[in-house]
Amino acid sequence: MRILLVLVLLSGLAGLLLTRAEPFAPTVTLETPVDFVGRATPLRLVARDRGTGLAHVEVRLLPASGPPVVVAAQAFPAGSSWFSTDAVHEATLTLTIDAASARVPEGPATLEVFATDHSWLAGLHRGPQLSRAVTVDVTPPTVELLSTQHVVRLGGSECAVYRTSADAARSGVRVGDEVFPGSPGWFQDPALRAALFAVPEDAPEARPALVAADAAGNVRSVSLGAEVRGRRFAEKTLPISDDFLARKVPELLQANGLDQSGDLVAGYLRVNRELRVATEKRVREICAESAPRPLWEGAFLRLPNSAPLSGFADRRTYVYQGKPIDRQTHLGFDLASLRGSTVPAGNTGRVVFAGPLGIYGNTVIIDHGLGLSSLYGHLSAIDVERGASVRRGDPIGKTGDTGLAAGDHLHFSVMVHGVHVDPVEWWDEHWIHDHVEIRLAAFPRAPEAGS
Ligand SMILES: [Zn+2]
Repeated sequence: MRILLVLVLLSGLAGLLLTRAEPFAPTVTLETPVDFVGRATPLRLVARDRGTGLAHVEVRLLPASGPPVVVAAQAFPAGSSWFSTDAVHEATLTLTIDAASARVPEGPATLEVFATDHSWLAGLHRGPQLSRAVTVDVTPPTVELLSTQHVVRLGGSECAVYRTSADAARSGVRVGDEVFPGSPGWFQDPALRAALFAVPEDAPEARPALVAADAAGNVRSVSLGAEVRGRRFAEKTLPISDDFLARKVPELLQANGLDQSGDLVAGYLRVNRELRVATEKRVREICAESAPRPLWEGAFLRLPNSAPLSGFADRRTYVYQGKPIDRQTHLGFDLASLRGSTVPAGNTGRVVFAGPLGIYGNTVIIDHGLGLSSLYGHLSAIDVERGASVRRGDPIGKTGDTGLAAGDHLHFSVMVHGVHVDPVEWWDEHWIHDHVEIRLAAFPRAPEAGS
């Protein structure tokens, strides 16, 4: 009887040790790689504890000399009973570490993560549970603007030439929500960058700034001092006929995998809104592929013997049975010539897309380098393949009315890093010379950049 009592007591003690004094220390894993710690370094950690649950997680930076500095910490509540389910057994911590405000000296350091649990033996589990060699860097890269007198119209393009320090991992011109990356490789001096940029037609308040960021996430921003000239875009009314709806809507819904329910007007609005947005998203993706140097030569060609039906950034009101049913911005030129006219490549470059593309129907997109590209929509025939090099004026297809087009015409767009810009500037050799070529020619060219 006495032995039984001792056994019961012993097993009870063992159970207590296993639950409250669990011998297992918490573990920590790093979800994002971190080599540099700057002013705003993202850090994602997962802390786990099998037993009593997490109590405290602490991130420290240990400089090569000097005491450790706590840069982030989080506490977790204990479970309310021994076998409770409200203890935290796993936590994902999404942190932003700021070594500058923590006054950690720059240079080599060790990032350490300490995690404790609620067990009685927590004090015996010595950390850190995670340790990693890092470099503390709180100094942003430098950027110096070299080109001057930037004048850009709303919806228009410009070019900046600048110098960055070698630690800049990314740099370019920021305009509102857009960042137009600069390209190295064109100039002999490897620290120089050329960036084509635009003030998007829907961002009249945006002011361009040079930005550069290093691997630690430190960002330097310098105003470009550009003069941004506002403008008003044309207001146009587009009547929508029953014949057009019947001819286009079912086909476009089906070809693009859209919901086919509802009447033709509902279907039309789905095309004009959802498919338009999806098409532009795809255009962005396609335009991300660009040669790091200019491939174009001089002014762009315009479809010969053509009349403009619509201009850049026309504000369109769509009217059905006398009532406005939608409003959209038209991001290009509509050029009408004879039915099935041969479409020439606007300039020298490489075909980065050839095929059906949402509202634009059969489409060709040509990359002209430095983030500049041109788009040819509604084609009845495509005569080039993706990857082909084309010269200015080479035939690439025939005009048509594929996609969201009421009649035979060419939709022509010019994009800078995927942002639609006014093609009028790129049709004008004086504008290209004054705004782009003169700036690119101001510094010695790298030998491999060609002539
Ligand atoms: Zn168009």
